[in-house]
Order: sequence, then structure tokens, then C-alpha cells
Amino acid sequence: MDQQFLTELKGIVGEQAVLENEPMSRHTTFRVGGPADMLIQPPKEKLAEILKLCGQYGQSYCVIGNGSNLLVGDKGIRGLVIEMVSREDEFSIDGEMMTVGAGMLLSKAAHLAAGVGLSGMEFAAGIPGSIGGAVVMNAGAYGGEMKDILRTVTVLDGAGREKRLTAEELELGYRKSCILKNGYLVTEAVVGLKKDDREQIRARMEELKQKRIEKQPLEYPSAGSTFKRPEGYFAGKLIMDAGLRGYRVGGAQISEKHCGFVINTGNATASDIRRLMQEVSDEVERQFGVRLEPEVKLLGEF
Ligand SMILES: Cc1cc2nc3c(=O)[nH]c(=O)nc-3n(C[C@H](O)[C@H](O)[C@H](O)COP(=O)(O)OP(=O)(O)OC[C@H]3O[C@@H](n4cnc5c(N)ncnc54)[C@H](O)[C@@H]3O)c2cc1C
Repeated sequence: MDQQFLTELKGIVGEQAVLENEPMSRHTTFRVGGPADMLIQPPKEKLAEILKLCGQYGQSYCVIGNGSNLLVGDKGIRGLVIEMVSREDEFSIDGEMMTVGAGMLLSKAAHLAAGVGLSGMEFAAGIPGSIGGAVVMNAGAYGGEMKDILRTVTVLDGAGREKRLTAEELELGYRKSCILKNGYLVTEAVVGLKKDDREQIRARMEELKQKRIEKQPLEYPSAGSTFKRPEGYFAGKLIMDAGLRGYRVGGAQISEKHCGFVINTGNATASDIRRLMQEVSDEVERQFGVRLEPEVKLLGEF
């Protein structure tokens, strides 16, 4: 670790604000992942300066949101982790347009929208990610996806320069966007919603919440659907049909409740989870000739 970089970083965000050797298991919904060399949760106005500093020192960095689609290796992450966290004031409404900071949780944004009678985010209320992570992944559920509501997204490029991208420029597709390939950091998004009755919006959110509780193993740490949906198939069904329901490697298991979820039964390591994913993909391919690709993003050293 470059001590001069660390000193300058502390100068920007504050001495106490740089967490060193921070266990990533505290920042991921899988509850696994070794230490990051440095982790910060900076306010929006400091982000450009931090990216410029990283550029100046050739310091590697990665950006995370709520860690709900991440598998971080047991040896952790070398370099700097920038975690985008929610701040109360990063939110405004103008007619049917809502502007939200990247760190805000989807659930919070959906409830704020419902509170002022704006519909369109009901599908997202139960997805445990941040706005930024949802833009990157084009998160979606129950027939809705971010692509339907995103109007513009503000990003910083690797040099800390701000750009505003239209929905078309984001190249949104099934669980993907252009953000990662361009190395952008999402700072803010504008979503277009529609006026509707508050109680009806809340009722729709409640209905979807109940569906999740019924179908998903929410009582265990996971990263949601571990694999992407292969064209023409469902990952969970292929895994079930391959006879892998409940299959285990160490503390990692194919959920008995929903075979599309790999769960951490308590003491899983990232290596257990990765090995399980590999074995399951191999077996499904052997039996059905379909290769399952991970939806979760692998990060750091395994
Ligand atoms: C129980 C459960 C249920 C789930 N259900 C769904 C579902 O129904 N539909 C669905 O689509 N997903 C679902 N997920 C997966 C996950 O919640 C989504 O992919 C979510 O969008 C990830 O957001 P995040 O903030 O947690 O991102 P992270 O997991 O922190 O990061 C995901 C990716 O985005 C990047 N990233 C995050 N924030 C930024 C930023 N501000 N700028 C640049 N890059 C950034 C990271 O580098 C990483 O590559 C579920 C997960 C769980 C645990």
C-alpha cells in the first residue's frame, strides 16, 4: 500500500474515514469476503477528487453499492474500495421525475416514491441493492426493470470528469449496462414515474413482497439469483432437474426452497461458493448442454 496515497486520501475524507483491512463480509449480503486494503464511504462531493488522486498514484479501486450481487474472494481486495452509501438528502422530486443519489437503497427510493403517489418502482422495492448497483445491473423483477424507468444517469469517468448519460447511452440489456466496461462510477439517477394512488402503489409493493417471502430463501445470506437466466430456460429449474437441490460444498448450498439461489448456511467461504457454482454449472452442462453463467460479480482474490 502506498503510504503517501493513504495520507492524501485521509486528507480528503478524514483520518477516521479510511477503514484499513476491512472485512468485506461486513459489506456483502453473502456475508463472505476477506479484507479490503482500504474502504471508504465518501460523500458525493469528494468523489471526483478521490478518483483523480487514484489516477495520479496509479491506485487501483473498485466501486460497490450494497454488496448484494457480489462474491468477494477470501483473500480480499487489493487497493481501494469505494462504497456508495445512502444519504438522506440525495433525493428530489420534480413532477413525475425523481432524482436519487446512487447510494440510496431501491427499497427506500420505492417507498419515498410511493409516499408522494408516484408509481413505477414497485418492482424494485424488494431488490436489496442500491440505485447505482441497480443501474449497473439493470436490475429487474416481476416484469419490470430499471430500463423502463431510467431517464438519465450521472457518472464520473476514471479521471473524475462528470458526464450525463441518457437511457439509450446506458446500453441496458438483460442484467447489464455500459457502466462497468467504461469504468464509470454512478453518482445519481433520474427516474420517470407516473402519478397514482398511494394506497394502490403500496398494495402492489406488499403483494410482490409476499411473493418473495414465499419463494425465496430470505432467511439465509445470499446474492439472489446466482446465475443468469439462460436463453429459453430457467437456471433454477435446470439445477433442480439436474438433481442438485440442496447440493452442498462446505457451508455453501443450493437452496432447497429456490434452486436458483446459492445460500451461505452459516460458515461458507467464498471458495466454497465459487466451487459450488463451478460444479453446478458443469453438471447442468453435462446433463442438458446448457452453460450457466454467473449473475453475481466476482471481485478480489480467491
Ligand atoms: C435476496 C436477494 C434478492 C435479489 N433479487 C433480485 C431481483 O429480483 N432482481 C435483480 O435484478 N437482482 C436481485 N438481486 C441482486 C442484487 O440485489 C441486484 O443486482 C442489485 O442491483 C445490486 O445492487 P448493489 O447496490 O447491491 O450492487 P453491488 O452488489 O454492490 O455491485 C454490483 C455491481 O455494480 C457495481 N456498482 C455498484 N454500485 C456502483 C456505482 N455507484 N457505480 C459504479 N458501479 C457500481 C459493482 O462494482 C458491481 O460490479 C437480489 C439479491 C438478493 C441478495
